[in-house]
Amino acid sequence: MSEQIQPVRGMNDVLPAEITAWQRLESTARQLLAEYGYQEIRVPMVERTELFQRAIGEYTDVVEKEMYTFVDQGGDSLTLRPEGTAGVMRALISNGLLRGQRHKLWCDGPMFRHERPQKGRYRQFHQIDVEAVGFAGPDVDVELIALTARLWRRLGIERVRLQINSLGTPEARRIYREKLVEYLRAHHDQLDADSRRRLEGNPLRVLDSKNPEMRALIEAAPVLTDHLDGESREHFAALCAALEALGIPFSVNPRLVRGLDYYSRTVFEWITDALGAQDAVCSGGRYDGLIAQLGGEPTPGIGFAMGIERLVALMTQAGAVPAPAAADVFVVVNGERAAAYGLQLVERLRDALPGRRFELNLGGGNFKAQFRRADRSGAALAVILGDDELARGVAALKPLRRDAGQSESPLPDLAAAIQSALATAVET
Ligand code: ATP
Ligand code: MG
Repeated sequence: MSEQIQPVRGMNDVLPAEITAWQRLESTARQLLAEYGYQEIRVPMVERTELFQRAIGEYTDVVEKEMYTFVDQGGDSLTLRPEGTAGVMRALISNGLLRGQRHKLWCDGPMFRHERPQKGRYRQFHQIDVEAVGFAGPDVDVELIALTARLWRRLGIERVRLQINSLGTPEARRIYREKLVEYLRAHHDQLDADSRRRLEGNPLRVLDSKNPEMRALIEAAPVLTDHLDGESREHFAALCAALEALGIPFSVNPRLVRGLDYYSRTVFEWITDALGAQDAVCSGGRYDGLIAQLGGEPTPGIGFAMGIERLVALMTQAGAVPAPAAADVFVVVNGERAAAYGLQLVERLRDALPGRRFELNLGGGNFKAQFRRADRSGAALAVILGDDELARGVAALKPLRRDAGQSESPLPDLAAAIQSALATAVET
């Protein structure tokens, strides 16, 4: 045997044993997003590197050190997407879909960041992204947050809480930025290397540092919320009032600045105390300046991304993961003619009973082995077809999950007999 090929570090397989949670999350989100009027958009997994540099910002963890960037055979610098928003905005611009139009969109799929892999933090991870473009808010800000709160309820996720903040307008941030720079310069000796670099490039990012040694310094820094412009203050007050009116609990976290550069005004994050250090499960905010920054006509927008792996972990902890669906009917075939005929019979039954799960015994085996398989399949009913039954034009039916005798049905009536046997199997 040749040597095994190792998987890529930080990139996981999702095995059938885990897939029901993923499917439940994805289908519930899909359904809910449709109920709120959001449409799916699919964009490439690879974009020009420049898109992310411009959208996310140079002085961010993502752009500074986490991007999977490569030069392709044509000499272009391309990057595996580290997040979804930039690509969706690029798609709206490239396809001429802005021009005063409004869009409510979602997309999902893998994202790539070269981070240090640990529980809840991977190099390929998955997000569901939701974007509302052309809405200045704050009503849409409220509705988006209400949508996420409803999603947690539908999924049975309880251990999450909402934090919000406002980053104000770029002008208000400029004023605040001067205050912050003054403060950080005065404590220059306490800054780590990342923060020193950011102090020059984008000092607000210093507040986003994950270095525990920086925490005290950050706690004592001037607070952006104290320097908001009047309009942003009103926007934020309206958001808070509407959340209260909807009965969605939240707390204001003035240190919440979010990792990406493009946010303005509303930012929010759902965090959990159930997953250890990786506590953010859904993060988002308003990005009113982003589209213009990418060369599109100035259009306000707001969006969020949720981390599927972390939400699946929460669902699993809450016991909100459905069991994999079992077969309804297992078809036991005994004898050579019966085995050959079984293939046709099951296809005919599948024609007659769409939606029912049939499992045909494959690969032969004696009666006992086949019944063991039937039992393991979880099927409610076994249909038994032997050469002897076949000669008489019948099949036998045997309930597997309750004590009941075997019955027989003529082959032409078998679909109806299966339906009624399954109906009684469910009743008892
Ligand atoms: P964190 O603070 O955990 O690094 P972030 O601010 O970088 O998160 P965003 O870029 O806003 O996260 O992404 C939105 C969501 O995607 C996060 O709330 C989280 O649930 C998830 N996420 C982000 N990075 C990872 C990762 N490397 N592995 C798994 N999930 C992730
Ligand atoms: Mg991060």
